[in-house]
Parts: sequence; C-alpha cells; structure tokens
Amino acid sequence: MQCEDVARLLPATVEGTPVDLAAQTHIESCLRCQAELARYRRMLRALQQLRTRFLEPSPSLLAQTLAVLGVLTWGRRRLPVLRADRYAEFAWVVLIPLSVCQALVPALVDLTR
Ligand SMILES: [Zn+2]
Repeated sequence: MQCEDVARLLPATVEGTPVDLAAQTHIESCLRCQAELARYRRMLRALQQLRTRFLEPSPSLLAQTLAVLGVLTWGRRRLPVLRADRYAEFAWVVLIPLSVCQALVPALVDLTR
C-alpha cells in the first residue's frame, strides 16, 4: 500500500472509521502518513473547539438594530443626500495632503531621534 492510497483513508480514520490491516500497517511504519494523521487530528480538534465557542449576542442587539433601521428609514427622505463627488476637489486639495502629512511627520520625527 502506498502513501497516496492511505491519504484518502486518513480523514475517515480520524473520525473513527476503522481501516483495513494493510492501511494500518502502512500508517504504523510510515512517518509521512503518521504526520498527516496527526495534522488531521489537530484540525479536527480545532474544528470541534470552534463548534463549542460562540458569542452570545447582546440582549439589546435586536432592539438596537431595529432602532437604527427605523432611523435610517425615517431619515431617508428627510435628510440631505451627501454625494461624494461634490467633495472630490476638497479631498484632493486638503484631505489627501493632510493624510500624507499625518503619516510623514511621525515618520520624520522617528527618523531624527
Ligand atoms: Zn505513507
């Protein structure tokens, strides 16, 4: 039996399906397949931990979500629409240079120390 033959059986082996004697003998004598089996076992353990770890949502999550959706629905027609293209020139002339300075100044201060 070759490693490639055993590799197809390893996932089922980890989940408890018994393998035939030839495959079992190969696994016991082959370091590569033993390592692969160990990787499957670690992966299965990690997946089982994921299954038992979950976050409870806050009890007020539904009420908060509905409130936000209500405000957005209510304000859809009443609030002015902000169009990003109106602010493109302001962004290019002011905001982007400010962002570059924000990154550049701490880098220069750090270099001069
Ligand atoms: Zn092998």
